[in-house]
Amino acid sequence: MKFGTKAIHAGQEPDPATGAIMTPIYQTSTYWQKSPGDNKGFEYSRGTNPTRKALEGCLAALENAKYGLAFSSGMGATDAVMKLLMPGDEVITGNDLYGGSYRMFTKIFANYGIKFHFIDLTDASNINKFITDKTKLIWIETPTNPTMQIVDIAAVSKIAKANKITLAVDNTFASPYLQNPIDLGADIVMHSVTKYLGGHSDVVMGALMLNDEDLYKRLWFIYNACGATPGPQDSFLVLRGLKTLHLRMKAHCENGRQIAEFLKTHPKVDKIYWPGFTDHPNHEIAKKQMRDFGGMISFTIKGADLQETFRVASSFKVFALAESLGGVESLVNHPTTMTHGSIPKEEREKVGVVDSLLRLSVGVEDIEDLLEDIEQALA
Ligand SMILES: *Cc1c(COP(=O)(O)O)cnc(C)c1O
Repeated sequence: MKFGTKAIHAGQEPDPATGAIMTPIYQTSTYWQKSPGDNKGFEYSRGTNPTRKALEGCLAALENAKYGLAFSSGMGATDAVMKLLMPGDEVITGNDLYGGSYRMFTKIFANYGIKFHFIDLTDASNINKFITDKTKLIWIETPTNPTMQIVDIAAVSKIAKANKITLAVDNTFASPYLQNPIDLGADIVMHSVTKYLGGHSDVVMGALMLNDEDLYKRLWFIYNACGATPGPQDSFLVLRGLKTLHLRMKAHCENGRQIAEFLKTHPKVDKIYWPGFTDHPNHEIAKKQMRDFGGMISFTIKGADLQETFRVASSFKVFALAESLGGVESLVNHPTTMTHGSIPKEEREKVGVVDSLLRLSVGVEDIEDLLEDIEQALA
């Protein structure tokens, strides 16, 4: 089945009770048992719920994976992966991570005796310098947030496999429409479903997709035992959002390209981060592993201090100043004071996350309105 067909149908059957075409919202915490243990495969909704199960089937199919697990947030999904580790284990990860992941690694799991190496992953071979016999997990993001670095998933996967290390990829920025890490050798794909998958900025949710049965059983145990699982209402909203994922992504990519090209020639724009440019340092890798380049673009404003950057950020009329990304509506974000506020200044400035940086999540509105809005905000 092709991507758009899976987005609309995978995991979903007409409801066995009524024939309803759309998966019902099974708003129940518990299920009747004829005699103890004699049930229809559902016992308690922390562990299993029919609406969530349909969603998990669809999510797995979109990443060409056997198994999908939905969590109550992207951080909930990441938390479950980290709980596979034991004190003394080491993790290799990137130096340009989603702020919340960095915060969880350094402020929660580092306290539990897990050691994290935050390294430059734009050259995958750097990983070799940090591997020890304690390295159990490589956690990567690509494109990275917010500077759109590209990590070569197939190259990292080769290193991970050679050293028997689990590779997890946060695929939130690309979405499964643009990139499928499992096909490139990753063991686990993580999504903040809140973003492109949900697509309408009305749900917070996360997911893990994977193929290995043993790993799935371990993660399902954590999912059920720790309990960060989403309710049926949110599962329904994401099922609904997914039905247009391919259409939305196509529009995000088209608008993204036009805005990136517009910004590139704008006299007030200094650096611009978008993997579709042929002079992006890892453009060739992006071209190899992604189907298109998406609607996430970051740029710095020439000579702007914090005050001038704030002025521009607050001047948009169509783009809303807000955290998050991936919805149908366009958003502008100021990383150093918003999404990346929890990363120390020295750390973030090393990778270009400076005060004059703005990040755009380009929506699917009419391009003329978006271009006009950027023009007037920069003026
Ligand atoms: C938003 C985001 C997360 C966290 O997901 P939540 O759903 O907000 O918990 C993780 N990684 C990336 C790249 C994100 O953009």
